[in-house]
Amino acid sequence: MTDLQPTSSQTTESARLLERSARLIPGGVNSPVRAFGSVGGQARVIREAKGSRLVDVDGNEYVDLVCSWGPMLMGNALPSIVEAVREAATHGLSFGAPSEAEAELAEAIVGRTAAEQVRLVNSGTEATMSAVRLARGFTGRAKIVKFEGCYHGHVDALLASAGSGVATLGLPDSPGVTGAATADTIVVPYNDLEAVRRVFAEHPGEIAAIIAEAAAGNMGTVAPEEGFNAALKEIAHEHGALLILDEVMTGFRTSYQGWYGVDRVAGDLVTFGKVVSGGLPAAAFGGRRDVMEHLAPLGPVYQAGTLSGNPVAVAAGLASLRAATEEVYDVVGSNANRLAGLLHEALEREGVAHHIQRASSMLSVRFAQGEGRNFRDMQAADTFRYPAFFHALLDAGVYAPPSVFETWFVSSVLSDDDFERIERALVPAAKAAAAAA
Ligand SMILES: *Cc1c(COP(=O)(O)O)cnc(C)c1O
Repeated sequence: MTDLQPTSSQTTESARLLERSARLIPGGVNSPVRAFGSVGGQARVIREAKGSRLVDVDGNEYVDLVCSWGPMLMGNALPSIVEAVREAATHGLSFGAPSEAEAELAEAIVGRTAAEQVRLVNSGTEATMSAVRLARGFTGRAKIVKFEGCYHGHVDALLASAGSGVATLGLPDSPGVTGAATADTIVVPYNDLEAVRRVFAEHPGEIAAIIAEAAAGNMGTVAPEEGFNAALKEIAHEHGALLILDEVMTGFRTSYQGWYGVDRVAGDLVTFGKVVSGGLPAAAFGGRRDVMEHLAPLGPVYQAGTLSGNPVAVAAGLASLRAATEEVYDVVGSNANRLAGLLHEALEREGVAHHIQRASSMLSVRFAQGEGRNFRDMQAADTFRYPAFFHALLDAGVYAPPSVFETWFVSSVLSDDDFERIERALVPAAKAAAAAA
């Protein structure tokens, strides 16, 4: 890829193509945050992604700090993943029958996590939906406890106070999600164990599971407080309920073993997506054998998928996990530290109140003093500064997440050149954030 100079004015092809898409696809996008709804301005249509860079259809080149919302841990189009996909495709695109690679991917997941068994699905949404169903089937109970600002995909029962895309659009809930679908969902503030204990006391014998992001990344980045996940498990077990840890974002990103490698709390059920997919549609849920064996065909809880365990997607996932060695996590971690340092310096210089939220290598900017511990904290910040900040970065060739409530993702392939560009871009961006009103 050539070192093209990004120019803010040249977005004519993006505009033209999005207009065409918008006639055929609602909003011109297949996932809402891509439309730039919360930051305004012209969304970019991407032509190509390689290594640390994205190139749009106007030829603007960006340092990628979204990484496809997480999967691209080792940068875009990693040659070993692309080659694995090419090789797998030559042997057939889908079998609708078992294949050897599925066991290899399952082995790789089980080998790195506390899960004893896994089932492969096609998206994180499917993984959490299935985990909730399984928890209900296993316990014979209906209610689910979830946290305000935690997002678990667009599962009806979990689209209550669901953060990021939903928060950004200002929809507390989505129309079309019936009262019945969320009637058994109890929402409590994140990092609030007292609230969790209270709902268990109020609903004895009714709660099937607590579901939590292992570290929250969909209200901006909010780490669980010391001992939080362990306490959730303890409370759940005291009351005969399960703990579902959603590692779709954190899994195989925040450490070699995901967030489990950080706090050693094994969810009774765990969900994976993003990095485990290698960038193709694949995800998984897994956990305790005695729980997983309640799934059909062994048990009564139904769950299925025409393309589940798809050989091409599985090849991508397997290549992704194989490439994600311990060393990769060291580099990703130091890149995250470096980015956090640059963000802090630039905002400090302009006197913009801020806190860089961290959960291992995941990070986001909170425009207020002090660490945000829950969704309300994250909303109670100068979020109005973000659109100007974001657009100044974009104009200078840095692609940050187009919402203040999203996590920034770094890859292992960010170069010194990339960091120099980020540092330069942060000068006008911090000024724009300071001037925003
Ligand atoms: C992205 C995400 C999901 C949903 O995954 P999809 O593949 O988009 O359906 C679920 N949970 C968490 C924590 C996520 O970050």
